[in-house]
Amino acid sequence: MTQGALPETVTTDPPAASAHARAHRPAASALSDSALAELLPDEPRYRREQIRRGIYGGDARGFDQITPLPRQLRERLDATLAFSSVSPARVRIAGDGTRAFLFRAADGTVFETVQLPSERGAATTVCVSSQAGCAMGCTFCATGTLGLTRNLSVAEIVDQFLHVRRESLESAAPDRVVFMGMGEPLANTANVRDAVEALVDPGRGGLGARHVTVSTVGLPAGIAELARWPWQIGLAISLHAASDDIRATLVPLAKHVDLATLMASSIAYQRETRRRVSYEYTMLRDVNDQVAQARDLARLLDGQTCHVNLIPFNPFPGAAYEAPAAGTTRRFRDELRRRGVTATIRQTRGREIAGACGQLRADGAVWRRRSQSTAATGHAS
Ligand code: SAH
Ligand code: SF4
Repeated sequence: MTQGALPETVTTDPPAASAHARAHRPAASALSDSALAELLPDEPRYRREQIRRGIYGGDARGFDQITPLPRQLRERLDATLAFSSVSPARVRIAGDGTRAFLFRAADGTVFETVQLPSERGAATTVCVSSQAGCAMGCTFCATGTLGLTRNLSVAEIVDQFLHVRRESLESAAPDRVVFMGMGEPLANTANVRDAVEALVDPGRGGLGARHVTVSTVGLPAGIAELARWPWQIGLAISLHAASDDIRATLVPLAKHVDLATLMASSIAYQRETRRRVSYEYTMLRDVNDQVAQARDLARLLDGQTCHVNLIPFNPFPGAAYEAPAAGTTRRFRDELRRRGVTATIRQTRGREIAGACGQLRADGAVWRRRSQSTAATGHAS
C-alpha cells in the first residue's frame, strides 16, 4: 500500500508485466534483517534500522513517507517491496469504539480484523485472523460456515496489527494481540509462529509476550509445539462443553480428539510452561448453559491452573443457536466460582458491526447487510 509521489518511471497505466511484478512484490514486514541486508547490500546498517522503524514503528503509510530515507532509496524500496501485504477494503466503527476492518490481500482474498477497546485504560487489543475462513466447521461459528480459503502468510498476519496500530490515535494504540479472528491458528502453526516472533521482537512489533494470546479449537500436536516456543505467550483453548457428546455437536474435531486427550495435552502444557491456560466457553441457550453443566465443567477442570472465559453466543443470520437467557451466564459463572474455578464473562463488544472476535464472516453479503441495517459507519480507504 503506497501513497503519494510514485517514481517517475511508473505511469498511471503500467504495462501488464510491470503491474504483475508490482502485485507480487514481497511484503516488507515479512523480511528478516539478513534478507533486508541481502536486498540492499550497499546500504549501511543504520539505513536498515531506519527502514525497519518506518515499517514497524512510525505512522508512514508507504515508503515515500519514511522521510529520514533519501528519495532514491524510498523509490527503490517501493519498486522492490510492498509496504503492506494488506489493504483495507472497509472499516466499520461501533458505538463502544470497536472497529472492524475488512482487509484484502494482493490476490484478492478477504479477511477481518477487530480492534477492541480495553477495560484497562486506553490501550486496545487487536484480534487478528490467521486464516481466511476455517476448515474446522464449528456449528456455532460464522467463520466455520465458510470453509477454508487459505492460510494467511506471516506478513498478512503481522500487517493486520501494524495497519491498525498506524490508524490508531496514540492514546488508543493497541498493546495486545489475540489470535481469535478468522481461522484456526494451530492449523497454520509455522506462519503463526513467525508472526508471533515478529510481534514480540523489540525491534519490530515490540509487544510484551504476555500480551499475545493464541486461541485454539484444541489440536494436541499444535498445543505441544506451542509449549516449546520460547516466548511467554498466552494459550486459550475453546472448550464449549464438559461432555464429549455435546462437544461433538459443536466442534466436529471433537469426534477425533476426545476431552480426555485434550485435557491431557492442556495439563502437559501447564506443567511444561508453568503457565495458566484459559478455556473459552461459548454459552449457547439450552445446549451447554445449565448449572448442572457448570458443575461438570468444574469437575473436568479440577486441579488445573486455569481460567474460564464465558462468551455469550453472538447470533448471526442463519445461526442454529440462541444466546443464553438473561442471568444464565452469571449463574453459570457463580457455580464455577463456588467450586473453585476462576471464571469471567467476556463482554460482547461491537455487536452491531462485527459480533466481535471469532464470529467473523468476510463475505460481501454480510458487510452489505450490516451497512444497510446499522447506523454505525466507517470509511472505505
Ligand atoms: N479457531 C480458534 C480461534 C478463533 S475463534 C478457536 O476456535 O479458538 C475465537 C473464539 O470465538 C473461540 O473461542 C470461538 O469459540 C468463539 N466464537 C466463535 N463464534 C462465536 C459466536 N458466534 N459467539 C460467541 N463466540 C464465538
Ligand atoms: Fe474455526 Fe475457531 Fe470458528 Fe471453530 S470456532 S470454525 S476453529 S474459527
